[in-house]
Amino acid sequence: MTTSYCGRFAPTPSGPLHMGSLVAALGSYLDAKAHQGRWLLRIDDVDKPRAVAGAADTILQQLDAHGLHWDGEVLYQSQRDARYRAVIQQLTEQGLTYPCVCRRKRLQTLSDGYDRYCLKHPPSSSEAHAIRFFNQQAVIEWQDRRLGPQLSTSAKDAEDFVLRRRDGLYAYQLAVVVDDIDSGVTDIVRGEDLCIPTFWQLTLWQQLQPQPPRYLHLPLVMGTDQRKLSKQNHAPAIDSRHAVANLLQAADYLALERPPEECIDGIEELLQWLKKCWIRKYLNGTI
Ligand code: GLU
Repeated sequence: MTTSYCGRFAPTPSGPLHMGSLVAALGSYLDAKAHQGRWLLRIDDVDKPRAVAGAADTILQQLDAHGLHWDGEVLYQSQRDARYRAVIQQLTEQGLTYPCVCRRKRLQTLSDGYDRYCLKHPPSSSEAHAIRFFNQQAVIEWQDRRLGPQLSTSAKDAEDFVLRRRDGLYAYQLAVVVDDIDSGVTDIVRGEDLCIPTFWQLTLWQQLQPQPPRYLHLPLVMGTDQRKLSKQNHAPAIDSRHAVANLLQAADYLALERPPEECIDGIEELLQWLKKCWIRKYLNGTI
């Protein structure tokens, strides 16, 4: 058993939790509890304009109401600019970054990822610029605990991705990796839509820390229109007054067995039951 296990849930506060985000919260929570590990909470508000006022507090209340209690202090990406700046500085000193002034219109014409135009033609330092990672050892293969081996199928997975945007905001890839490393995260359990950015994130991770995390990507919750439930397509917020029913529905999406009616005597018992189901399903009963 891994006792050094550290997991996390990292919602973007662009609205309250919906069923899709509850599934990610529950999956990452159960995996941490199954390993007797820590489960951290981070608010991914690095993209400050996208954060909706009050959404982070609502998410905290919703998690509490569903018995999903996190360990330690909540980490807010919006307070970590100095750290992200320092990591870019460190990578720059290692010759692993370069400024880029290419505009969206040009980038959209590049089907095989960024063509290193600004590496070959360095822009003048006074121009507003993005900062790219000089990607010389891209990770193009990794292992997912649920989905098995993941092989890159696009040159974009190995491109020189952006670390800091032209508007000065730090890129999601950078923030997620730096935060996970700094928090001592060993296991990342999140929605399957994040399989693609995992190539970039692991590439960056290997540059900053020798021990990569393990990944488990969960099935996505689709709406009736066959699109992933998300705040952008107005997925309804979960109603905390129906926490048990919400958790049972989230458990269905994770293909966990429902307990017999008489066994559900509150949230704590339900989470204990689901933890045992999780161990059988996702850990092959090894714990
Ligand atoms: N903040 C991301 C989201 O809400 C998740 C990031 C992650 O789990 O790595 O989709």
